[in-house]
Amino acid sequence: MVLESMLKCTRCGENYKQDRSLQLCQKCKGILYVNYDYDSIRKKLTPQDLQKRGLGIWKYSEILPITSRSNIVSLGEGGTFLHRCERLGKKLGLTNLFIKNETTNPTGSFIDRGTAVAVSKAKEFGVRALVCGVTGNLGASLAAYAAKAAMRCLVYLSGPIDQGKLYQMIAFGATIRPTKTSEEALAKAQSIGSNTMTVTPADPLFLEGEKTTGFEICEQLEWKAPDRIIVPMGNGGHLSMIWKGLKEFVSLGILEDLSTTMIGVQAAGCAPIVQAFQKGSMEVSPSDKINTIVRDICFKNPLMGDLAVKTLQESEGTALAVTDEQMLDAAHLLAKTEGIFAELAASSTIACAKRLVELGKIDPSDVVVCVITGMGLKDPIAMQRFVKRAKNLKGLIHPSAERTFSTKIGETKQLILEILSQSEQYGYFIWRELTQKFDIKIKIPTVYQHLADLEKLVLIRHTRIATIFGKPERKYYTITDRGKAMLNALKQMNASM
Ligand SMILES: [Zn+2]
Repeated sequence: MVLESMLKCTRCGENYKQDRSLQLCQKCKGILYVNYDYDSIRKKLTPQDLQKRGLGIWKYSEILPITSRSNIVSLGEGGTFLHRCERLGKKLGLTNLFIKNETTNPTGSFIDRGTAVAVSKAKEFGVRALVCGVTGNLGASLAAYAAKAAMRCLVYLSGPIDQGKLYQMIAFGATIRPTKTSEEALAKAQSIGSNTMTVTPADPLFLEGEKTTGFEICEQLEWKAPDRIIVPMGNGGHLSMIWKGLKEFVSLGILEDLSTTMIGVQAAGCAPIVQAFQKGSMEVSPSDKINTIVRDICFKNPLMGDLAVKTLQESEGTALAVTDEQMLDAAHLLAKTEGIFAELAASSTIACAKRLVELGKIDPSDVVVCVITGMGLKDPIAMQRFVKRAKNLKGLIHPSAERTFSTKIGETKQLILEILSQSEQYGYFIWRELTQKFDIKIKIPTVYQHLADLEKLVLIRHTRIATIFGKPERKYYTITDRGKAMLNALKQMNASM
């Protein structure tokens, strides 16, 4: 365990002591990296020592920023399999293809590596509550680790969000506050007071955990780095951190040399890092639109975009954008040949490997590692697409599941949520809106039935009863936070169908 690790700005080189509120460089807003005393660790740590230790990220604790093991909050993150993939390799034309299967992490994604480190450090700082302001896997993972650490977890969320991840957050007991935009979510998360710690994808402690994917790949290849590592790029953090990990192994003498090229993938519908790299620019310009269903790798303004470009250049790697259809095909192929069901963002690495072999940019004998970052069951939109492709199997779906696949059956309830998201309203008003504005042929008692159903699901709640002389009583309803999140999810699902 290191006594003291420092934070160093990746842009201007400024050094800082570790602090729970320090997310970015105070001088230039650059990303901070944790730096260690590599010379003294080098004298104490050998591959033989590491080999004797059990699986998981904490076997590398000398090179993680936690001071005392007693503060470790663990759900069993890391230590994931590196599969040799002969069947898939044959399909892609690769003889040495490996999959780093991150779907088996505690909440189903590589993010758990980062969260485990951030939450352990939060415990060391004496923090009581954790806050984040992002969509997707980070919220789900943070909620789980907060539960384990007996800390409160507050998630600011802007929709749309994959339902599986939202369910995880609710199940782990997080408090969820919907916001209009992801920028607003991040701003709200950062304005929280004492005794709390904000975790963002750019948090130096969170990032440190992500580099352990690189450590494990080398250890599993018998202390050699592969020729190529292909990583999905959302914010660009995982790719950059795997590279940091490999370079640290060189600094510690664990790796003799490093000739790995790093390859980053994004969705063609939102690929600002790929565009910057292909233009030869060191700076990533934000994308103006998102045109993909693969939300976990689409960030208009990726937080670690510049670092990702730097990593690609430093390692003489490359970047590629792949379409949603290519990712769907890749997810299917991976599942069919290797028994690994990945989310579409993760399957992008297989689509990328296939394309680069076709282009002659990867040699058939190269040792190629595709990082499969998250599991497929979290992503209902992808599952829906799979089911749609297999038309003859539709009858096998449980009626309740089919209902969630159908826009028609849920349409009235969704419209009621929509009306209540504008303002607090009563039954007759909602009926009038539905019949006149949306042309839904429906009787008033049916509206009340829908309202009762929505209330049971805690998507709406009644607020007050108003009595106006000469008119029937008006019972008013309002949408709940959960209802707002559900409405966002429904809108996204309908948009993608
Ligand atoms: Zn700086």
